[in-house]
Amino acid sequence: MNKLTMISIILGFFIAGSGFFLGLQRTKFFKNTIDMNKALTIKDIVPVVVIGSGAAGYPAALYTSRFKLKTVVILGNKPGGALTETTYVENWPGKEKILGPDLIKDLQSQAKEFGAALFADSVQEVNFSQWPFYIKTEGGKVIYALTVIICTGSTPRMLDVPGERQYWGKGVTTCAVCDAPYYADKEVVVIGGGDSAIEEAMQLAVYAKKVTILVRKGALRAAGSMQEHLHKYPNIEVIFNSEVRAIKGNDEHVTHIDLYNDVTKTVQEMPINGVFLAIGHDPNSRLFKDYLPLDSQGYISLPDRTQQTKIPGVFVAGDVADNRYKQGGTASGDGIKAGIDAALFLKEHGFSYDIMEKMKPNFFDSTQESILHIAEIQTIGQLDKLIKETDGLVVVDFYAPYCPSCMRMLPALGAVAYDLVDKVVFVKSDISMQREIADRYKVETVPYLIVLNKNEIIAKTNNAMSKKELSAFMLDLIEKKDAKVS
Ligand code: NDP
Repeated sequence: MNKLTMISIILGFFIAGSGFFLGLQRTKFFKNTIDMNKALTIKDIVPVVVIGSGAAGYPAALYTSRFKLKTVVILGNKPGGALTETTYVENWPGKEKILGPDLIKDLQSQAKEFGAALFADSVQEVNFSQWPFYIKTEGGKVIYALTVIICTGSTPRMLDVPGERQYWGKGVTTCAVCDAPYYADKEVVVIGGGDSAIEEAMQLAVYAKKVTILVRKGALRAAGSMQEHLHKYPNIEVIFNSEVRAIKGNDEHVTHIDLYNDVTKTVQEMPINGVFLAIGHDPNSRLFKDYLPLDSQGYISLPDRTQQTKIPGVFVAGDVADNRYKQGGTASGDGIKAGIDAALFLKEHGFSYDIMEKMKPNFFDSTQESILHIAEIQTIGQLDKLIKETDGLVVVDFYAPYCPSCMRMLPALGAVAYDLVDKVVFVKSDISMQREIADRYKVETVPYLIVLNKNEIIAKTNNAMSKKELSAFMLDLIEKKDAKVS
């Protein structure tokens, strides 16, 4: 061995070694041994916890439930996930055409049919360096899991340009299916060149006078079959090489955008009534970053072709780990694989039906979530009477059954209404049935919440909030009201 070869070998060891130690530093080390007997005495335990309730979560729960493993699905802040925000899905194998929300409803009821329990809460914190794994919810519940299947999906991306946050819900949105009816005879732009952009444009074209798709490159990324749909809509135009630089308005609503043309290198003001974002999604992996390796774009990395992560007993499925396919069908396939992987893992580590029987008295009770029914306001007179007779605050939730984020927010409203039952009365009003109340409060978008102290509106918001956000929002208003009284 000559001197040069020796030096290369020593250097090689150093580089490999530092890589190994760097790897350990990046994520917390899993140091616990898996001993099923240890789990027998732990309270609030569950053999399989599925985090997330979309196209990956329900199939995962279906499979583990069919293995007769007690499975709890933590629904998350957007129950049903991305498919609930789409209209027709034409590429679900075996179905020519099905509405996204219907597809999720079917997946949910099939998982429930086989015994999966649904828990309406969202995960706030995990500890994967201990086993059984520790999960804490936003509602303050602690669950211990023998296995976890992460199916948290992804969140729509934002442009990050001036005006975007200011006009969020006032002309800027990511949900055409929710807001399209408000743009009847108006002019709107859709940003993006993928399948979502085409879909949003088609939803809008039914109502709007003109829809312009703004694509930053010189070509669409959308599938050819999606692009072909565009020919059916004479009021849809596509402008290439264009980027939105700013969103402007009159404080109340969007009126213009600054549009940069990458060919002429100029910026022009374009008058517009609405901006619909369809520029892709970012993976919801933040909760797990201390434990699991992520790729450069934040997707959870998988070491091999199974769905098991670097941590034995933690599995992942769907968009949160998929930077390539991102389809409802592939998410479901991943979910099925993760369900089978979790069941095999439990078997390989000595879990049996005998052990499950012994564990049963300690199972986490997923039915303990307390939710109040939110009454529907039918007439303006009914609302006026309620306001007059209520000493505390009155919250009116304007919603529409066709608006997925409205429907997803209802359980959060029910849960917060339960917690604040002595201080706030929550009611809801369906704007597709009852226009008079919506018109009085100038409701232009849903979901839309107004908070009334007698006849004074003390707050309004069009954010689709989680239970935690809504709770913080209401507690702040209650504190301000109490401070004013004293
Ligand atoms: P994609 O990632 O496919 O497309 C995102 C688009 O947004 C691209 O054209 C991208 O441009 C553009 N973009 C990204 N960032 C910016 C920015 N800052 N400014 C302007 N443009 C930007 O996301 P989609 O949400 O469209 O689709 C996600 C997945 O879901 C895909 O796999 C898609 O096939 C699937 N899907 C399927 C549907 C169906 O089958 N019915 C419906 C909707 C989605 P560029 O090309 O330059 O990167």
